[in-house]
Amino acid sequence: MNRNQQLRVIAQEVCECRKCPRLVKYRERVAREKRRAYRQWTYWGRAIPGFGDASAKLFILGLAPAAHGGNRTGRVFTGDRSGDFLYAALYKAGLANQPTSLHRDDGLHLENTYIAAAVRCAPPANKPLPKEILNCRDYLRRELAVLRPKVILALGKIAWDAYLEILKQEGKIASRAAFPFAHGAEVTIADDLPRLFGVFHPSQQNTQTGKLTEAMYATVFRRIRAVLNEIPNQTDVGQSSSPPEANERPRSH
Ligand code: SF4
Repeated sequence: MNRNQQLRVIAQEVCECRKCPRLVKYRERVAREKRRAYRQWTYWGRAIPGFGDASAKLFILGLAPAAHGGNRTGRVFTGDRSGDFLYAALYKAGLANQPTSLHRDDGLHLENTYIAAAVRCAPPANKPLPKEILNCRDYLRRELAVLRPKVILALGKIAWDAYLEILKQEGKIASRAAFPFAHGAEVTIADDLPRLFGVFHPSQQNTQTGKLTEAMYATVFRRIRAVLNEIPNQTDVGQSSSPPEANERPRSH
């Protein structure tokens, strides 16, 4: 299978996943009850697969879908304020073809970039339990194995830790303690591992309080672009300029 096909298999499994009873119950309840402003929508109400370019060298890792964002639209960071902030930054950095992400059929494509969440179902109060992060880890591990990115950008500490936990599980690091999270952190863990960057999560809690600004993201993306530009052109079989299934809409049930 090429990368597109492998990502498609993972995306399909994610869409059907019911491993976390608390999250399944919550995502489905939100989808039934809806927010008044979205009552005309048929909410997605399931887990959200990764989204992006199958040849991506940049892997952006978020926390979890928003109840009325990704859980409504079926695409990560789509239809909420966090997504507005993130995709505007990606567009300015030349990594997305448009600055907005409104719904699955809005024509958005990512360039050299793939986005997924550490937890793929919307959690109550945006707070997943440790067990739920653990339950979801294997989807991330498998996507990383398929994509073999050169740069990881963790949006917040939970995403940062989720990635490091995979390295720990695989025996590539002894502990997370040597790699503390900070906005603007850039870490070379080993020569054969992706460069790890950290930024504050683009939640309203950060963007509306001034803790996180557009300029702060622009600075980090400039640095990431410089790192990506140092990477030789890919020659792998399975590289494609077309996006994977996850960049399209996951199959409906
Ligand atoms: S959070 Fe992850 S592991 Fe849990 S039900 Fe959703 S997709 Fe499955």
